[in-house]
Amino acid sequence: PAAIEIRDLRKTYKGGKEALKGVSFDVPRGSIFGLLGPNGAGKSTLINILSGLVNKTSGSARIWGFDINKDPRNAKRSIGIVPQEIMFDVFFTPLETLELQAGMYGIAPEYRRSMEILRALRLDDKANAYTRTLSGGMKRRLLIGKALVHDPPILILDEPTAGVDIELRQQLWTYVRELHAAGTTVVLTTHYLEEAEELCDRIAIINHGEVVANDETGTLLAQA
Ligand code: ADP
Ligand code: ADP
Repeated sequence: PAAIEIRDLRKTYKGGKEALKGVSFDVPRGSIFGLLGPNGAGKSTLINILSGLVNKTSGSARIWGFDINKDPRNAKRSIGIVPQEIMFDVFFTPLETLELQAGMYGIAPEYRRSMEILRALRLDDKANAYTRTLSGGMKRRLLIGKALVHDPPILILDEPTAGVDIELRQQLWTYVRELHAAGTTVVLTTHYLEEAEELCDRIAIINHGEVVANDETGTLLAQA
């Protein structure tokens, strides 16, 4: 099966806002998949449904073959989500942050890979520094590290470079490419066409809660 299969997904919030109006698409395994759309298009709603934060109104979604409602535990374990906002306790160190996250997943100490993850993200020399002393770029990388603790086959980044300067953006793209090269399926939401173009091999465009295009990046751009 595909890494993620979304079928006729609908979300109407209390109050009547239809954020998703029957969304269907597949994220192929091994791809870097871009979910592109303007603010308010429904990208976060979709990601929040996949992560279990928001309940869908109808339709279905499978993550790595696991239905998000029938098998939420396995579905959740198959994704790592990098949220838009930086959130962790700045009084812990990066190593402690990852160890705590591993604990939350019930991963036994001998199976934890905290230092390995920090090395991959070039944060190993900051393993024992207070997180509050890290630069913005280092904090963003730690956020990625947190999402990788349980070794998910799929990594989802929600607007990874929103409000980030060009240098840091390039740096984050490099890490995304490295993770992808190591076998991770990557999904990112963005409202920058340039970002989707640069990174993604496939792009779905969402607008007003509907998928208005879904194709290989080259094909999509040739039509634009
Ligand atoms: P459920 O997932 O059970 O449908 P909601 O997400 O609809 O619950 O409820 C969350 C509450 O937060 C709502 O009452 C809604 O008014 C409010 N809310 C949160 N984010 C937004 C937003 N972007 N626009 C409007 N209301 C919001
Ligand atoms: P995007 O991530 O593409 O910016 P969102 O999924 O955040 O889009 O929002 C899609 C639409 O749903 C917007 O009109 C937004 O205001 C609305 N919305 C988002 N969350 C809620 C909520 N909890 N309650 C009501 N409306 C919401």
